[in-house]
Amino acid sequence: MRQFIRKITSLFSSSSDEPSSQNNQAPLILSRDEHGLSRQDIEHSALDVLYGFKRAGYEAHLVGGCVRDLLLGLEPKDFDIVTSAEPDQVKMVFKHRCRLIGRRFRLAHVRFGRTVIEVATFRGSSENKTQTNRQDRFGRNGKYSGAAHEVDDTGRVVRDNVYGTIEEDVWRRDFTINALYYNIKDFSIIDYTGGLDDIEKGQLRLIGDPETRYREDPVRMIRAIRFAAKLGFNIEEKTEKPIFELAPLLLDVSHARMFEEVLKLFHSGVAVQVFEKLRHYGLFEHLFPQTERVLSEEQNGFPRMLVIEALKSTDKRIREGKSVNPSFLFSALLWEPMLQRRAEYLEEGLPKQEALYAAADDVIGEQIKCTAIPKRFTAQIREIWSFQYRLPNRYGDRAVKLREHVRFRAAYDFLGIRAVAGETDLQEVFDWWTEYQEKNPVEQVVFANALKRPERKKRPRKNRNFYRKRSQLARHNDSE
Ligand code: ATP
Ligand code: MG
Repeated sequence: MRQFIRKITSLFSSSSDEPSSQNNQAPLILSRDEHGLSRQDIEHSALDVLYGFKRAGYEAHLVGGCVRDLLLGLEPKDFDIVTSAEPDQVKMVFKHRCRLIGRRFRLAHVRFGRTVIEVATFRGSSENKTQTNRQDRFGRNGKYSGAAHEVDDTGRVVRDNVYGTIEEDVWRRDFTINALYYNIKDFSIIDYTGGLDDIEKGQLRLIGDPETRYREDPVRMIRAIRFAAKLGFNIEEKTEKPIFELAPLLLDVSHARMFEEVLKLFHSGVAVQVFEKLRHYGLFEHLFPQTERVLSEEQNGFPRMLVIEALKSTDKRIREGKSVNPSFLFSALLWEPMLQRRAEYLEEGLPKQEALYAAADDVIGEQIKCTAIPKRFTAQIREIWSFQYRLPNRYGDRAVKLREHVRFRAAYDFLGIRAVAGETDLQEVFDWWTEYQEKNPVEQVVFANALKRPERKKRPRKNRNFYRKRSQLARHNDSE
């Protein structure tokens, strides 16, 4: 496929490395016979949506990652559609199948069975914002509700609901390789920005002036990392240079969005490469400041190993088509900071369990200043951590109770990661649990009863209630 694109792009593209300048150069159009993207590769529901628009007389294109991935011979994660129909018109075409979502970017979700296809309306250019989409900016009652493409003091786009044409929409997209359109009208691929050429070169290039584009939306910096890691592409020099300096802008992004973006980064199947690149560009410290601090004072290469091992295991699970859990990821990324904090509490004389809960509260409380963590996940992170101290106590009935717990599997996997990463004295416990799970219930009882019951130590009770209250309060304050 790449060879085919090379042939075509060498015929059409300009000799300059710059993208064809905005709006004044005809796009490169590959007709259906000139590219290898076939309708057979497109999900049925996406095709149904495209044809639905075509029948209703609207323009409709596949755009973004699906076109890019299909051209590269990869399986697309999802199929994004862009259309000339405005959100209310999308609703009229697909009626009960359609749900309008989003405030900052209004989008439509069209549902076919279990599949949801995301549909966006062509975004207008900022220059034309006074002419387009009166309804959105003036509201249904005709009152002016502010400019639709709003930018704050730092240049960040805070609202963007000006609609336009494909010629305007293309310049609003992030990378050239994400700005290729597959037109359902004639099955052609349309390239305004040199995206086909960049696919051929294996390079990631931001459309427009990189600094301005990062200021508009700092998440583009971490999208660059994700695509570079996933596709094995280089980040073009002008696109990569501002990242080192602008990395702190990530702190301005909504914490809820950051949580979603972090999951996309680390559940991409290439989490190890993503992690290395995030650190290289100075982005990781703004996503996980506590982890970065621990990593930079690493001892014998140990803390770094745990994160890497956890990410390796996540990548492997994704390759094998197994499920992945955000709480496992966050447990691993925050384990070392939690251990440090716990050690401080123990030093202050807190009992072990209280020290763990207090440390967990502190570390999670700090982390949600960067990435929100929904409450159901913070509860799971605590369980995975507290299980690390319960799994060694497995004699008699305890083994059955632990094994039956809903968080057992994640906690057991996490114990395995810690053992592989070199934490001492864990391999024996991990191997025991592995063997235990291979036995039938009767054998399991015998196996657990064969263990010697450890002697109980007396717990110091100093300040217990104070810390328990403090811990409950912090848990209450966790993010929703
Ligand atoms: P994938 O779905 O494989 O993660 P994608 O490129 O399809 O990658 P999406 O988040 O699904 O990414 O977005 C679809 C398209 O919307 C992108 O390809 C890009 O054209 C545009 N887009 C998404 N996020 C941004 C952004 N922050 N700035 C500009 N354009 C964006
Ligand atoms: Mg996509």
